[in-house]
Amino acid sequence: MYRGAGAVCRRPGAYPFGMDRYRIAPDTTVNLAALDPGDTGGLREKEARERLGELNRRLETLQELLYAEGKRKVLVVLQAMDTGGKDGVIRRVFDGVNPQGVKVAAFGRPTEEELAHDYLWRVHRHTPGAGQMVIFNRSHYEDVLVVRVRALVPDSVWSRRYRHINEWEHLLADEGTTILKFFLHISPEEQAIRLAERRDDPAKQWKFRRGDLEERRLWTSYMAAYEAVLSRTSTPWAPWFVVPADRKWYRDLVVATALVEALEGLQMAYPPPAEDLSGIVIPPAG
Ligand code: AMP
Ligand code: MG
Repeated sequence: MYRGAGAVCRRPGAYPFGMDRYRIAPDTTVNLAALDPGDTGGLREKEARERLGELNRRLETLQELLYAEGKRKVLVVLQAMDTGGKDGVIRRVFDGVNPQGVKVAAFGRPTEEELAHDYLWRVHRHTPGAGQMVIFNRSHYEDVLVVRVRALVPDSVWSRRYRHINEWEHLLADEGTTILKFFLHISPEEQAIRLAERRDDPAKQWKFRRGDLEERRLWTSYMAAYEAVLSRTSTPWAPWFVVPADRKWYRDLVVATALVEALEGLQMAYPPPAEDLSGIVIPPAG
């Protein structure tokens, strides 16, 4: 069962800013305009980067514990507007983590086969097994975001999905999955800067999609769709965090801190050896 970040024991003084303030309490009406994408928690970049380095090492150990214990499952959901930093979070928060223990599942436009099934079909098979951590780069939430904004299905169809999603995530949590969901919140001004970089920097041009400009024109509709998601699907078993994401270094720090806090709250332990090892002598090589 998920233990909310609020129930996690913290090392006194280790993190003066709890991540609780970015966590959406269940049944809150979220107004994104009131949440500052440029927030840096009063930190400077240098300090934030040092802390991230420390969190990377703790995450490395926690992931190893998760794998060694082989019981629990961890699902991290990343959602954002284009250029919001999903790829950057995956690179920098999980820096140093054993790649054998973490999988990334990215969800783009559904295939014909996927569209022939219910919208949770394609995501369910990518959920973590025992001892695994999976990161969703986009997720089932697209089915109440792009699908809603672009009216890809009638209102009566997408409007039922919040309830399905809450119940489905409850199922995963009941079966031992810790779920953390992050909305990387950037401002339209910052997106304009990043899109221009993508257009102009040969190392980033491959990421540029003309279609992303269409999504940008629908910014207000997307924010309304995100507000509905955050207001209706942040639950005790699968909380949302709204991460200030205009500063990449702060964004990474917030995600890493929330993740480390939640994993430490699981109080995992290395399994004991299968037999008493105290008298075992390592023999000379033959
Ligand atoms: P990206 O993550 O930037 O590579 O882009 C993936 C694209 O797939 C985005 O434009 C998403 O909006 C789109 N996408 C993801 N899931 C769905 C979905 N269920 N229905 C329609 N489009 C989707
Ligand atoms: Mg894209």
